[in-house]
Amino acid sequence: MNRLDICRQAVRRASLMAREIQATLVTDDTVAKKDRSPVTVADYSVQAAISLELARHFPGEPIMGEEDANFLRTEEGRPQRHKVVEAVRKLNPESSEAEILDALDRCREEGASSRFWVLDPIDGTKGFLRRGQYAVALGLIEEGEVVLGVVGCPNLPRTPDGPAEGCLAFAERGAGSRIESLSGGDDEPISVSPEPDPAGASFLESVEAAHSAHAQHAKIAARLGVTASPVRMDSQCKYAALARGEGAIYLRLPRDTRYQEKIWDHAAGALLVTEAGGRVTDAYGHALDFSLGRTLSSNTGIVASSGPFHDRLLGAVREVLDE
Ligand code: AMP
Ligand code: MG
Repeated sequence: MNRLDICRQAVRRASLMAREIQATLVTDDTVAKKDRSPVTVADYSVQAAISLELARHFPGEPIMGEEDANFLRTEEGRPQRHKVVEAVRKLNPESSEAEILDALDRCREEGASSRFWVLDPIDGTKGFLRRGQYAVALGLIEEGEVVLGVVGCPNLPRTPDGPAEGCLAFAERGAGSRIESLSGGDDEPISVSPEPDPAGASFLESVEAAHSAHAQHAKIAARLGVTASPVRMDSQCKYAALARGEGAIYLRLPRDTRYQEKIWDHAAGALLVTEAGGRVTDAYGHALDFSLGRTLSSNTGIVASSGPFHDRLLGAVREVLDE
C-alpha cells in the first residue's frame, strides 16, 4: 500500500468506528441531557486508532491532534477510558490500555516540524451529537503546505441525492481529488461546479451561528445575486461538498476577529477543494498559512469557492467587512 492508501484505510476504519459509536452511544436520552460523553469517546477513540495506524506505517513521524489523554487518565475519566479502550481494541485487539493512552499523547506536535500529520478526530462535534454531519480529517503538512488530505464523512451521501451511506474524499497535491463510498468500492475523481455565474450558486456555511457570521454571509450572497438559501452543514463535510460541485461557495467569516482558526479544521478539507479545481483563501484573499503552529494566526476567516468568481466574491466580502 502506498502512503495515500494507508491513510484512506486508517480514516475509513476510524470513520466506521465513529459511526458505530454515534449509533450506539448518542441516544435520545444523551441528546436531551446535552451529554457530550458520546462525542468524547468518539474523539479519543478515533485519534488513538489513527495514531496507532500512523505509528505502525510511519514510525516516529510527528502528529498534531486535537486531543490528549490527560482527561482519560483521571478518575473522572475512567468510564470513558474503558469505552475508548473497548472501541480501539475492536480494530487493534493487541493494543493495551497503556499503548492506547500513549498513542493519544503522542499527538502533541505543535507545528514546529517541517513535516507533520494533522488530525481532527471528530470535526463537527455538534453535528455528531445531533446525528448529523461530522468528519474525520487527516492531513499532512510539509513546509507549511498541505500535501495530502483525507476526509471521512460517515453520514454524507456518496452522491448528493443518494442514501446516507457515508463517503471518503481524498486528495494529494497535484493529483486531484477523488471520492469513494465509506464502505469501499470504486473511487472516482471529483471537481468543483463549473458554473461561472455566482447568482445561480448555492453557498455553504456552518450550522452553528457561533462559528461564523451568518448575517454577513447573507449580505455577501445578496451582493452577488445569490438567490438560494444557504446550505448549513457541520464540519469539513462542507469542503467535500464544495469539492464535488454541491454548492459553489463556502463562507466562514469570524464572529469575533480574535478567533484563530485551528489548522486541523481546514488542512485536509482545503486541499480537497483546491485539488478539485477550486480556490481557498482567507477573507482578505490571502493564502492559508499552515506554517504557524496550531492556528491560522495570520489569516482571518475562510472564503472558499469553485473558482471562476472568487475575486468578485472577495470584493463583496471586503465591502461587507468595511461596512
Ligand atoms: P463547523 O462544524 O464548520 O461549524 O466547525 C466546527 C469547528 O469549529 C470545530 O472543530 C471548532 O474547532 C471550530 N470552532 C469552535 N469555535 C469557533 C468559533 N468561535 N469560530 C470558528 N470556529 C470555531
Ligand atoms: Mg474541528
